[in-house]
Amino acid sequence: QYAAFRTDLSVLLDQVGAGKESLSFMKRRIRRLAQQWAMAANRLDATLEQRWRDQKKILVHVGFLTEESGDVFSPKVLKGGPLGEMVQWADILTALHVLGHNLKISMSVKELFLGVPPGRGSCPLTGPLPFDLIYTDYHGMQQMKQHMGLSLKKHKCHIRVIDTFGTEPAYNHEEYATLHGYRTNWGYWNLNARQYMTMFPHTPDNSFMGFVSEELNETEKRSIQQNKVNNMAVVYGKEASMWKGKEGFLQILHRYMEVHGTVYYETQRPPEVPAFVKNHGLLPQHELQQLLRKAKLFIGFGFPYEGPAPLEAIANGCIFLQPKFHPPHSSLNHEFFRGKPTSREVSSQHPYAEQYIGNPHVMTVDYNNSLEFDSAIREIMRTKVEPYLPYEYTCEGMLERVHAYIQNQDFCALEPPFVPANFSRQLSGQSCVEACHSEGFICEPAHFRFINNKEALRGLKVQCEVVDSEVNHILPAFSEVRRECGLQQEPLLFSCAGHSPKYRRLCPCRDFRRGQVALCRDCL
Ligand code: UDP
Repeated sequence: QYAAFRTDLSVLLDQVGAGKESLSFMKRRIRRLAQQWAMAANRLDATLEQRWRDQKKILVHVGFLTEESGDVFSPKVLKGGPLGEMVQWADILTALHVLGHNLKISMSVKELFLGVPPGRGSCPLTGPLPFDLIYTDYHGMQQMKQHMGLSLKKHKCHIRVIDTFGTEPAYNHEEYATLHGYRTNWGYWNLNARQYMTMFPHTPDNSFMGFVSEELNETEKRSIQQNKVNNMAVVYGKEASMWKGKEGFLQILHRYMEVHGTVYYETQRPPEVPAFVKNHGLLPQHELQQLLRKAKLFIGFGFPYEGPAPLEAIANGCIFLQPKFHPPHSSLNHEFFRGKPTSREVSSQHPYAEQYIGNPHVMTVDYNNSLEFDSAIREIMRTKVEPYLPYEYTCEGMLERVHAYIQNQDFCALEPPFVPANFSRQLSGQSCVEACHSEGFICEPAHFRFINNKEALRGLKVQCEVVDSEVNHILPAFSEVRRECGLQQEPLLFSCAGHSPKYRRLCPCRDFRRGQVALCRDCL
């Protein structure tokens, strides 16, 4: 059946259900952005020129919102708790609905398995799978494993795991992770790493799912620029603990600017928030947008990491000022990342803003140097910027990307046919993420299998005396010391992220579309 674009969201709103703050938050968001989604759908529809799109039967099981997982998020929606995941799920649901697919939404294990005892019985997921695709998260994976037993393995290739911070191949492969110290509480599901879908394009080993931010038309852009208050700053951090120990910076900031906050409080101002700060309390999303439209500066103090809010601020014409992390934060040195299935090094509070957006919208500075901090603030007050939103975070960008994944990514087929054009090979002591990046390309894990052979290594004029085949996430690579070439024996371990000082890696790179890094130039 053909998937026809939908611009009416009322069926979706009914499907989301009610009775919890998290669901109300998601529904408010879906309603607020409805018109924006509809316009994007019409544009993409026109671009695709009636191309055939299969309608998929899709189960969306939101594990972290189930009672069975403890649902710690819902009670905190109005109290400054994390909202990024809810923003993303609301947008994923909307994108799938707008693209015309057939959705079943589940937010409880009971609903999903109709009360069948764990591991057996005729529940909807243990017989032949009645879905083409299942979107869930790590909690949902655990729940499905408990209830489906072995049939989970059979259906695995249909699953997509929404995974904010990403899972690198070395952590995903059960045996390898166990043997080499990459085992975490989250992972080792032995999926193709591209079945994990992230909030930002961290490593191309995973698929970049993303979310959307509010878009402005030309009139709105102009009026925002006219009404900007040059000395108005909004602090990033809706929970009082995020302000702890930041008085020094706030003092400096207050020398130049009026400081606003949106910190949740019950009856009294939280002690972490100085008296000179105008605290609005936690705001509904649309009111936060209004505040950001007036403000010149949106300032982060290091936490939360990699949330949606900086993109919203930049889209509303703010400059985002954030701390550089030196050394970078990672699972090795920071509590927050400890035990997360990635060794990614986080170079600032929001590496996407730093690396993909940058000047003049984003300034990343060393906060330990108060002169640098001080002069950054003065520079921001002088700088004029236009509201900016990367295409991949617009509704059209997200629809386009999710459409491409749904129609092309097939992890059930032996050799996935999704082969974007154009690749080059690199040798490097770095990871393939960095190696490809430095050439203006992006690492494409699907292409490792084309370069995992002697001929490819020879083509690079590497003098290897021995060619070995091993299970090691750094391979294919060349060891200069040992003059040995290593080929990868386990396709699940092809990794863009892996690096080791002992190896020069062989990397498959591809081109990408500006503003849509998930897709290569000619692959829509
Ligand atoms: N947000 C809000 N009211 C506020 C502050 C933030 O609705 O007073 C929303 C904001 O619009 C953003 C979401 O909270 O979409 C998530 O923000 P953040 O970047 O802080 O990420 P989190 O840590 O919550 O995942």
